[in-house]
Amino acid sequence: MDDSSVSEVKDKIRTFKKSDLIHLPTPFMKLENLTRELGGPNIYIKRDDMTGLAFGGNKSRKLEYIIQDVLEKKADVIITWAGLQSNWCLQTAAAARKFGITPVLVLFNVYDLPIEYDGNLLLDFILKSEIRIREAEKGGVVHLQDVDAILEEVAAEVKESGHTPYVAPIGGSAVGGSMEKPLGAISYVDAFIEMAEQAESLGIEVDHVIHASGSGGTQAGLAVGAKAWNERVKVIGVSVSEEKQTYQELVLEIARDTERALEGSFGLGEKDIVIFDEYIREGYGEVNQEVSDAIRLVAMKEGIFLDPVYTGKAMVALIDLVKKEYLKKDENVVFFHTGGTAALFPNKQKLRKFLGE
Ligand SMILES: *Cc1c(COP(=O)(O)O)cnc(C)c1O
Repeated sequence: MDDSSVSEVKDKIRTFKKSDLIHLPTPFMKLENLTRELGGPNIYIKRDDMTGLAFGGNKSRKLEYIIQDVLEKKADVIITWAGLQSNWCLQTAAAARKFGITPVLVLFNVYDLPIEYDGNLLLDFILKSEIRIREAEKGGVVHLQDVDAILEEVAAEVKESGHTPYVAPIGGSAVGGSMEKPLGAISYVDAFIEMAEQAESLGIEVDHVIHASGSGGTQAGLAVGAKAWNERVKVIGVSVSEEKQTYQELVLEIARDTERALEGSFGLGEKDIVIFDEYIREGYGEVNQEVSDAIRLVAMKEGIFLDPVYTGKAMVALIDLVKKEYLKKDENVVFFHTGGTAALFPNKQKLRKFLGE
């Protein structure tokens, strides 16, 4: 570890103010049973599903910085968007309400789920979020120019009613809307260092970090953190929706914005943004046999629930990469649990089907 660059990065992160929303550090521990079951490598877990806001998850780390930005900009309404069962939107609604900010959620019906008040949509409703459901095109496609137009319309409406809107980008990842710095990714540079310090205090040298990747902020932040920490740690993003080539460009762009925001230069390049897109399989949010099996395996071996959209697919990847010996027997692998478990419930029928009635 290069102590000086890590402490510089930590100092720099501390210049970004955050609101107090979650409990840190999140737990870090070895998954003894899963390690034994797979026959090595040593598998550890970083429990970012236990942040303590709403049902927990990676978005709540990001929101500590983003809500602070909302407050500093004196906005009283936060507008954001994503898919119908979005963890991001739920976490945003919970964080906003806690600080007296009104959440307006534009939710696209991107997958083949009934519009039922279940999972995150139920939680959004309990939080009295202003919910606007929009149909996506066939195949779950949402065009970004349509989204921009809708968000502008909603923001204009909010202004007309005498309030101040803050438009937050999807996932709190790429700079956009009212967010001028990659605040979500910055929170994940911090998360990487938090995890690396926990591992170090247990005498563990981490070889790989693996996690589910969707809008890019988590991976960008972890990649910058890893680069600042130590050349040998590799971050693996398991894409849940985007094809590798275009997604890598997006993550790299967010990572470079993050380096710039931290006024550091760690020589981050394409080779530092490792993405596997083959575990998307049938598509975003599509539950299949292997995801269902992975969820059951981790639940039964460790008493930890994964979700079917993100962490379940990342676990399928981890198991497969162990089989393929991409992850070697003597290595130390950290699985970031990024949350999302409320999505188990609206997917109950598929889970019942694949796991036997
Ligand atoms: C959003 C999300 C991710 C992906 O994080 P990004 O920063 O959007 O790439 C992973 N897991 C869960 C549970 C999420 O909700």
